[in-house]
Amino acid sequence: MTAYPFSAVVGMDDMRLALILNAVSPAIGGLLVRGEKGTAKSTTVRALTAVLPEVAVVPGCRFSCDPAAPDRACPDGPHDASAPVAVRPARLVELPVGASEDRLVGSLDLERALTEGVKAYEPGLLAAAHRGVLYVDEVNLLHDHLVDLLLDAAALGTSYVEREGVSVRHAGRFLLVGTMNPEEGELRPQLLDRFGLTVDASAPREPGVRAEVVRRRLAADDDPAGFAERWVDEEQALAERIIGARARLASVVLPDAALRQITTVCAAFDVDGLRADLVMARTALAHAAWSGRAKVDAEDVRVAARLALPHRRRRNPFDAPGLDEEQLDQALQEAADEGDAGDGPEEPPDGPGGGAPDGSGEDESGQDEAQSGAAASAGDSGTPRPAPAPEAPPAAAATPFRARLLTVPGVGTGAAGRRSRARSGSGRVTAARIPAERVTRLHLPATLVAAAPHQQARGRTGRGLVIRGEDLRESVREGREGNLVLFCVDASGSMAARARMSAVKGAVLSLLLDAYQRRDKVGMVTFRGADAQVALPPTSSVEAAAARLQALPTGGRTPLAAGLLRAADVLRVERMRDPSRRPLLVVVTDGRATGPAGGASGAPVEQAQRAAGLLAAAGVASVVVDCESGPVRLGLAATLATALGGELLRLDEVAADSLASSVRARTAAPSRKVA
Ligand SMILES: [Zn+2]
Repeated sequence: MTAYPFSAVVGMDDMRLALILNAVSPAIGGLLVRGEKGTAKSTTVRALTAVLPEVAVVPGCRFSCDPAAPDRACPDGPHDASAPVAVRPARLVELPVGASEDRLVGSLDLERALTEGVKAYEPGLLAAAHRGVLYVDEVNLLHDHLVDLLLDAAALGTSYVEREGVSVRHAGRFLLVGTMNPEEGELRPQLLDRFGLTVDASAPREPGVRAEVVRRRLAADDDPAGFAERWVDEEQALAERIIGARARLASVVLPDAALRQITTVCAAFDVDGLRADLVMARTALAHAAWSGRAKVDAEDVRVAARLALPHRRRRNPFDAPGLDEEQLDQALQEAADEGDAGDGPEEPPDGPGGGAPDGSGEDESGQDEAQSGAAASAGDSGTPRPAPAPEAPPAAAATPFRARLLTVPGVGTGAAGRRSRARSGSGRVTAARIPAERVTRLHLPATLVAAAPHQQARGRTGRGLVIRGEDLRESVREGREGNLVLFCVDASGSMAARARMSAVKGAVLSLLLDAYQRRDKVGMVTFRGADAQVALPPTSSVEAAAARLQALPTGGRTPLAAGLLRAADVLRVERMRDPSRRPLLVVVTDGRATGPAGGASGAPVEQAQRAAGLLAAAGVASVVVDCESGPVRLGLAATLATALGGELLRLDEVAADSLASSVRARTAAPSRKVA
């Protein structure tokens, strides 16, 4: 198959440049491409290897050892210095999102290890990608477990496999390239930060450019070989320019003024840590080398900022991606001015580690209304905060906080995630069983117990045990699964009248943020006035859910029963689509049902009770967040929780703990005691 030539790609300038800069300087750390379907993202990535420098390897080594510096721990080694050298093109290895752990890191044949005493290791994709490109299409859909393995390998430059005491380690350094469609769900922040650069890919808008894309695509489909042939010179020139830039890179200088620009820009965009500054410096150096310059100038810094900062300045997944070019110009100008003025006064940092939400969600004194314009939160110890994003006319959400962990009871079998208990490929061992296929996770004690009674009959005479295939037992493991978290939010007047909506939205937003980090699917049903609406069908895009929530209008009667019945509908359909994903229904209401459920008889509160009973009978796990406030309390939410057979939480109990100002903490604290 002839690949589409890299040079022939039109209208993906940022993406091509970002790939080239990574090829010039692999230390930049890879590229994430975000964009809708049909923008030639994958074609462009796959075209890259043709212009990458060839790789010298030790012939026969399955781990692509460099003959000049072979991996001393290479499983196929040791390699002798006098060995011949083979040269091969750079490799692109694709990691499918549903790949097994064995496929990624390689597999150890435990049966042979036990019965023959041989360490039989089959290298995985990480070994194949060493010194090449590892490409993950739909990287946002990659299983958590694979993400962790990938992050470990990327951080250490080593792939490590350990199964019941048998271990293999080999070098695994690669250019990580991911593509994703953000509408299908966001990436975990840890993985996002791992990519050196990001670009947004969109189809070109100018008709002339679009026409050229189509023209070339038609020509390439018509005669792939002939089309490729026409681009041979361009491809060759590009490959040589990359080699030249690589050779030049070490001697490119980063002047103090340019470094000052980099750090000023990073500070202006309020990025976390120093990783952004480093990546920006490396990118600027690579761009200077690529442009044939001996030292980094302002243009290199600007390009580096555009590629290295968009995914690092985001405070939470609900902010819009991208970089404000005006703000960038301003920051660059500031740095230049400062440089002219000699050593300007050190700018005080904009709040250490900035951005950790510290609201507890408790605003009983009606501060919500008073504050809508002011940026500062009352009672805060004077740290200036950046002004909030412009807010929609409906009640704005209070600052999100770290939510406590809500789980589905029991043990599921759903897709890997971070919420409820589940049988899974990873996690801790809880039992042993006879394997259905080849064993990958041996349970050694159970295997020995199975073999022991047969030793005499099998005529054991030597020192070792006589173990047969039928003795092997595998571990049953328990980890965590992702769930479908369906919010059923009361947006009626009884909620709005008490100015609770801001706190309610803040709490739901916090739970959404939590769902995002735990890789849940989310959906939202809202009810007010005469009816209930599916505000968001179940999706993996938490951004979409947050946007719907922010824009949610409030007022009118409280058709609670209609809301619950609509939620039941949504869950029924979802169960057909994705049976192993267990739902968690989060009903956010004060329970004061006043509206009718279409056609049903009885008082609104009784209708709601019946609807709740239906959900309980269907086995739906639920939590009721009680939003009732004020001096007279009816406790209707508690009655609802009982009918649902679910948990009851007060609005102020949604926070993991009142002192949690850090969103980085990974596990939920036990419920706090309220005096
Ligand atoms: Zn080797």
